[in-house]
Amino acid sequence: MAEQRQNNVHVLVLPYPAQGHINPLLQFAKRLASKGVKATVATTHYTANSINAPNITIEAISDGFDQAGFAQTNNNMQLFLASFRTNGSRTLSLLIKKHQQTPSPVTCIVYDSFFPWALDVAKQNGLYGAAFFTNSAAVCNIFCRIHHGFLQLPVKTEDLPLRLPGLPPLDSRSLPSFVKFPESYPAYMAMKLSQFSNLNNADWIFVNTFQALESEVVKGLTELFPAKMIGPMVPSSYLDGRIKGDKGYGASLWKPLAEECSNWLEAKAPQSVVYISFGSMVSLTAEQVEEVAWGLKESGVSFLWVLRESEHGKLPLGYRELVKDKGLIVTWCNQLELLAHQATGCFVTHCGWNSTLESLSLGVPVVCLPQWADQLPDAKFLDEIWDVGVWPKEDEKGIVRKQEFVKSLKVVMEGERSREIRRNAHKWKKLAREAVAEGGSSDNHINQFVNHLMNLI
Ligand code: UDP
Repeated sequence: MAEQRQNNVHVLVLPYPAQGHINPLLQFAKRLASKGVKATVATTHYTANSINAPNITIEAISDGFDQAGFAQTNNNMQLFLASFRTNGSRTLSLLIKKHQQTPSPVTCIVYDSFFPWALDVAKQNGLYGAAFFTNSAAVCNIFCRIHHGFLQLPVKTEDLPLRLPGLPPLDSRSLPSFVKFPESYPAYMAMKLSQFSNLNNADWIFVNTFQALESEVVKGLTELFPAKMIGPMVPSSYLDGRIKGDKGYGASLWKPLAEECSNWLEAKAPQSVVYISFGSMVSLTAEQVEEVAWGLKESGVSFLWVLRESEHGKLPLGYRELVKDKGLIVTWCNQLELLAHQATGCFVTHCGWNSTLESLSLGVPVVCLPQWADQLPDAKFLDEIWDVGVWPKEDEKGIVRKQEFVKSLKVVMEGERSREIRRNAHKWKKLAREAVAEGGSSDNHINQFVNHLMNLI
């Protein structure tokens, strides 16, 4: 009976169509499917073909830019979001109606918190709605307080370091850039705040983090809304192993050069390689790329660097040839495979939230090179709170110079401090596994959600 009811629960998952959002929401869909729920991921026409995961149905909806998505807007975030709202609401409703004619109508929409309008669509169609936040509890905490007027912007110099319930004191360097310079990113700022506009109508609120990782912050956050921590949303093979064969997210907007990377890593000694990636969106200044490039050369380490095609022109002339004995530079890889490889000893990261959770889940120490947005507070937590790496100081131009970078690499790769950092990384890896394993805090929250839905229909 229980099993039959589970199969009648149909959750429609709606990610924002970027790599760092599709990955955790698709992973959540897989978790639900592994618990007997029917899970469908609705995504844009442009991204639908890049997703393929067992037991998950993929359906396309429209953002109004069906050929190339955001790239079609000439980087106009406001236009993209407005178009997504109009076209997405309409096509999501049609999709729900299509499923109403089938034996498994949609029960609940789990929507990316960037799309608060999806909750309205759910309610108009008589469905349950669950918001899913793809950033840390700390970041939710900050923006929710701004939304409610508990934190006024701009933050005055005399109010720094900023003290918010549950959070460590945040100096100017660790504030999200939208908070530090609210005028500079109006469309992003509006989107970050709109996440909370109708949140009190949501039936569930999930955050991709775990209790042990942000325990104090979670206390501060749940004063604001009843959030449930369900992370880390990292493929099961790297954590509890309960979803058979779940070795990758099942979504890649670029083609990973998997074989080239694993062949190259094969001959390398354990923990000897530095893996560098700045994620799917960040674009570094040419000056910063050069400092990283020369720092890697000077440190003498073996390195595997993911540099997206559009960034290659920023490398010093002849650099690839110069470092070919030590370094491999590729346009995209399967990051989890690289982090899990025994040869990888350090992750130089832009501190996107997924990369942050992946480094913690796989126990890989980090050198933080955050560039903007939430990456700045993430770096502070990695460096100071979780103590799994180093955040090198930037100069007055905001550039981390070669010497600082080399120094940080040394701290993470060699000596007593490196051993301490590795011990901490190992501790978080264990705690991440515990959170999603049977009976863990995140697993319990997901089970409560599934059971609740089962009993509602
Ligand atoms: N990623 C990947 N291959 C790469 C670089 C990144 O598969 O070469 C994945 C990575 O595992 C992570 C996501 O892309 O899940 C990036 O998300 P994150 O939040 O770290 O950064 P964003 O791209 O959103 O800035």
